[in-house]
Amino acid sequence: MKVYNTLSKQKEEFVPLVEGKVSMYVCGPTVYNLIHIGNARPMIVFDTVRRYMEHKGYEVNYVSNFTDVDDKIIAKAIEEGVSAEEISSRYIAECKKDMAGMNVKPATTHPLATQEIDGMIDMISTLIEKGYAYDVNGTVYFRTRKFDEYGKLSHKNLDDLRSGNRSLLVTGEDQKEDPLDFVLWKPKKEGEPSWPSPWSDGRPGWHIECSVMSKKYLGEEIDIHAGGEDLVFPHHENEIAQSECCNGKPFAKYWLHNAFLNIDNRKMSKSLGNFFTVREISEKYDLQVLRFFMLSAHYRSPLNFSADLMEAAKNGLERICNAVDNLKHCAACAKTEALTEQEREALAEVAALAAKFDEAMDDDFNTADAISVVFELVRFANTKTDENSSKAFVQQILDKLLELGDILGLIFEKKEEILDDEIEQLIAERQAARKARDFQRADEIRSMLLEKGIVLEDTREGVKWKRA
Ligand code: AMP
Ligand code: ZN
Repeated sequence: MKVYNTLSKQKEEFVPLVEGKVSMYVCGPTVYNLIHIGNARPMIVFDTVRRYMEHKGYEVNYVSNFTDVDDKIIAKAIEEGVSAEEISSRYIAECKKDMAGMNVKPATTHPLATQEIDGMIDMISTLIEKGYAYDVNGTVYFRTRKFDEYGKLSHKNLDDLRSGNRSLLVTGEDQKEDPLDFVLWKPKKEGEPSWPSPWSDGRPGWHIECSVMSKKYLGEEIDIHAGGEDLVFPHHENEIAQSECCNGKPFAKYWLHNAFLNIDNRKMSKSLGNFFTVREISEKYDLQVLRFFMLSAHYRSPLNFSADLMEAAKNGLERICNAVDNLKHCAACAKTEALTEQEREALAEVAALAAKFDEAMDDDFNTADAISVVFELVRFANTKTDENSSKAFVQQILDKLLELGDILGLIFEKKEEILDDEIEQLIAERQAARKARDFQRADEIRSMLLEKGIVLEDTREGVKWKRA
């Protein structure tokens, strides 16, 4: 299996540190709002990497954090007049719902930054002892120039970086020894969450979180560290500096980064305001469609979001689900059980397609090619099976199709699930029926929704609904 390593800028053969096991850390979201579909890209992509590794027989220890202390969380808490903890726990719960909808498996561990402060204080203390960090009036900085290999991940030259940043030092913005030094610990401001430390009552910088959580849950050296490409610099570069200077060992063997999800060729982001939340998408589409759309591109290629592409993804997924439906029908109606000689020969093609699927995934997780293979299998199923096929033949094709879907985290099943949009439409129709005193139709709609698990409540402010 070959994986592209940002560190070497090359595809490399994947050899885990411990045979049969993979340790993997994926930087998770900062939880101050609903996640947008740009944030969903690394979740879907690296969940697929994990699933493929598991398919290859590896035992995967998958760690992904939630950043639950941050300026944006604090700002949101002040805006709403609630605690930062209330904001972060609310959006962690919402994020987990979105992940479940996208069929992203829960991580082996989802650590929270605020629960790991002791480990951060330990690591910062070690860095100070070793001369890699220093305290100025309660703020602790990492002494970047002391780490010779700084810049090795982002392939940036220290001198260029320094001249680009010189203005920072000139403005006297803070008391760093060098403009490239970054914060490990900062003193609290009034009203902010804080923890006691040897340097000040304060809170950790962002980068130290991941170094500490990765070490605690996976060990000093890990196989894979991953995230979106905007994290390469400075976040991952700084993580390498902290971890390698503290532990005296290489940090991660393979660094994997997904390209951006764009809109009109610009990165989708909260700050540009050009985003859709996963929740918004779920009102129009089953989130399986979103997952299918994401995997239809290679994870290192930029992907432009558009309504047309989502429609294409919906149609593509539907074609596969129809084939699965047909196979199930054929299996149920089959008149014979055992394979014929001809069918046995035909199954060699299924095996060849399965091998081709693995070949695509072995080439740096080329999910776009892997999906093409799924379509080849669909074509095979549609042309080679009918009511005269044996049950064994149909079942083997069906099992293979579902297995390939499972590796990609796609459930090839038509869901009877009702979308928010349709619910709203039915509620409007029910209101109209009541107004026209057609109570029979109104009741019919209520029972129909109830059957699908939607409970209506008539309140003074209008009709409210919830999923039971
Ligand atoms: P954040 O909450 O901004 O730290 O982002 C969480 C994860 O989402 C990180 O791995 C980011 O790199 C990734 N990410 C954010 N925006 C995008 C985007 N538009 N496309 C792809 N990945 C993104
Ligand atoms: Zn991180």
